[in-house]
Amino acid sequence: MDLLPSFLSGRAQTGTGDGTALVDPTDGNILVRTSAEGLDLAAGLDFARTVGGPALRALGYAARAALLGQISDRLALRRDDWYRIARENAGNTKADAAIDIEGAIGTLKYFAKLGAALGNGTLLSDGGDIRLARDPNFLGRHIGVPAKGVAIQINAFNFPAWGLWGKAAVALLAGVPVLAKPATATAWLAQAMVADILAAGILPAGSLSLLCGAPGGLLDHVRCGDTIAFTGSAGTGRAIRRHPRVESEGIRVNIEADSLNAALLGPEGDAASFDGFVREVVREMTVKAGQKCTAIRRVLVPGPRARAVADAIAALLDGLAVGNPADPAVAMGPLVSKAQQADVEAGIAQLAAASPVAYRKSGALVEADPAKGAFVMPTLLSGDSDLVHDREVFGPVATIVPYAGRDEAFALARRGGGSLAASVFSADPDFLTDAAAALGDSHGRLLLVDPSVTDNQTGHGIVLPSLLHGGPGRAGDGAELGGLKGLWFYHQRTAVQGSAAILAKLAERQSRE
Ligand code: NAP
Repeated sequence: MDLLPSFLSGRAQTGTGDGTALVDPTDGNILVRTSAEGLDLAAGLDFARTVGGPALRALGYAARAALLGQISDRLALRRDDWYRIARENAGNTKADAAIDIEGAIGTLKYFAKLGAALGNGTLLSDGGDIRLARDPNFLGRHIGVPAKGVAIQINAFNFPAWGLWGKAAVALLAGVPVLAKPATATAWLAQAMVADILAAGILPAGSLSLLCGAPGGLLDHVRCGDTIAFTGSAGTGRAIRRHPRVESEGIRVNIEADSLNAALLGPEGDAASFDGFVREVVREMTVKAGQKCTAIRRVLVPGPRARAVADAIAALLDGLAVGNPADPAVAMGPLVSKAQQADVEAGIAQLAAASPVAYRKSGALVEADPAKGAFVMPTLLSGDSDLVHDREVFGPVATIVPYAGRDEAFALARRGGGSLAASVFSADPDFLTDAAAALGDSHGRLLLVDPSVTDNQTGHGIVLPSLLHGGPGRAGDGAELGGLKGLWFYHQRTAVQGSAAILAKLAERQSRE
């Protein structure tokens, strides 16, 4: 079987050896193989720095934004191919694949529009002039200068398309060349998309590279000016941050890691919030088979309502078909691999020692063999324990944790040790605003759902390009996207001092946010 090529130094390159097999998690069949063995990573990074970077920076923000628009349009032409690969290589149902693929296409489109509004400046501005001396002619100002290194973007297995393009869109708009490294297990979709975009000749040579396969010594070659944006497990994130070369070169690192996200039903637990809350928990447990960094893991409910919430979640899960994602009736497919299946089953067993299983879906899989596929049935546990706030079980699993009052509810939500997202469902405006103040410092995003938005809110787990994504503490302390805020990761904020005439001349090169 041929190996999937990487794209480095402006050309397709294939590693040596047998490579790693990429598997269909529905039936265990091998789809493709990939290897990064023997690839010259140092040369790939240098090519991006010396060829891709200058070519991108010769364009202004609006011109680069136009390229993002072309990428988005081009990707939209081959949707059927992308959906098929997502189904085969990641076990995605059509709805799961849509979040990844339409998320990628939409995010590129969003940044294309946003960048167009910046005009064709080549620097960013941050605030106006500041008088620094008695002489009004001597002024200061903060500007943003695009980094002259490579944006190394390392992604997790669960969003091969959105993870790739969401990160790449921001760096390319900033004028920084990208070397993307998809997770090996699901690299096929990222590889196929990049191959298509490079073949279309939309981007200047060297502005987008892709490394498929194990990262090997990639980080041994980073240099001051490069950046690393990583999404994945907290353990890998720590290893990247502590890499000797990353430390010695002072590389700017953004980490998006695991998170024990909570959903909180207000103390009144009333009918107005109850149904929307239950629907949201079920959606988060089952979309992408619970393999979302933002998925709800902890379900915080008033003690007297715990049984009713568990029963309502169980009733919805009972009616849901699990099996082969090719069958349109199937709502939840397999996990991404047998390894993830084993890890999730082990996690359920660990949690269940203190928080018993309240419900586990049973019954046959639709058109799938449980021995061959990486399936895990949706499982709801109930009861508090230290582990509930510490063990991320990356599958269709959540735990109900009862609370006694609002202070305890907020304290429990904070026990995640820093999370990506929490949602709060309540008809009490004071409770919702108190929650924002109590939880904001330990969460990257808060979804506050009063009954007026229950039916048209965007969802607990959905990351939007216009809002920041990332969370403090355990979640990695990262922040990406967020509209133009995301651009600053790829710029140096520089304080410039000089005469009014020179600063006025500099302003001609600046795009204003
Ligand atoms: P992972 O095992 O940490 O791998 C993530 C990426 O890092 C992969 O591309 C992997 O490549 C690469 N990698 C592994 N070791 C590396 C090293 N020493 N140097 C450089 N890169 C290295 O995570 P995963 O299993 O793919 O993803 C699941 C985890 O990601 C979950 O914990 C989830 O919560 C988290 N996640 C977080 C977010 C977020 O936005 N916060 C989003 C999605 C997922 P290989 O695949 O080739 O090993």
